Amino acid sequence: MSPKEIVFISGKGGTGKTTITSSFVWWLHLKGEKFIIADADVDAADMHILMEPRPWKEEEFVGKSVAQINDELCTYCDICRGLCRFDAIYIDEDGTYRVNPFRCDGCTLCEIACPVQAIEMVPQVVGRWFLSRTPYGPMVHARLKPGAENSGNLVTMVKHQAHLLAEKEEIPYIVVDGPPGIGCPVTSAISGASFVAVVAEPSFSAIHDMERAVETAEHFGVPHGILINKAGINPENEEKIRDYARRRGIPFLGEVPFTRCVVDALVKREIAASSCEEVRGALEGAFGKILEVVNES
Ligand code: SF4
Ligand code: SF4
Repeated sequence: MSPKEIVFISGKGGTGKTTITSSFVWWLHLKGEKFIIADADVDAADMHILMEPRPWKEEEFVGKSVAQINDELCTYCDICRGLCRFDAIYIDEDGTYRVNPFRCDGCTLCEIACPVQAIEMVPQVVGRWFLSRTPYGPMVHARLKPGAENSGNLVTMVKHQAHLLAEKEEIPYIVVDGPPGIGCPVTSAISGASFVAVVAEPSFSAIHDMERAVETAEHFGVPHGILINKAGINPENEEKIRDYARRRGIPFLGEVPFTRCVVDALVKREIAASSCEEVRGALEGAFGKILEVVNES
């Protein structure tokens, strides 16, 4: 049987998504369930701070290819520089032709056009992914090089590795800490999920971002629900979130109070649900609802 994938996302960063995901991990572990943790927030991975993974496998992640010019073959004809729509090719101080890898889109036009075959496309290592052990179970995570693109593909890789391991070891669940926002990495994180929990904080801008995150889950036809984090900081906005869920018929999973205890736990690198009784109490109901939906699917 394919493992069930439970993904936590938020419309924006800073909502406490990882606080909730790590609490879910802790809760599932307490229940004696077997699962794999997948940190798909590859641009700002921070699950490792709480999960303390010990890698036992590590591999490079190769992204797109970029053009590279061979000085020894180049005849300085300037054809490539004129053709490149991304202004990626420039003449260096010593007169040689160079490619700025951050600008190169990998379109291969210059490679095709070069009359002396002085250009070749070279695959770029843009990050690394890891299989690790944690006190809660296996974890797949990754690190993207600063400034590197392709985070959507790296998210797909992280999830793929989590599925391979889950199927091999007959592990029934994959818990995914998804990326914030609604871009390509989120699409990759949601794709194929059994359930998406949208974590929202009750601030004005966060409500708008939450709506876009919900629409993304709806677009992919993935069962989803809304969970408020940092409840108590703005009761008016909290009611707006509950009302939004009611109007659209989206399951409301619950709300986690904003307490000093959560801040203290994070400072000490502790999981909120394990350290804060009020958080644990608030989340148990939400997590139970998630598991119910996932097990029925
Ligand atoms: S097209 Fe080829 S030969 Fe001409 S400048 Fe570019 S790399 Fe050099
Ligand atoms: S591969 Fe495309 S984008 Fe990259 S340098 Fe060549 S023409 Fe420019």
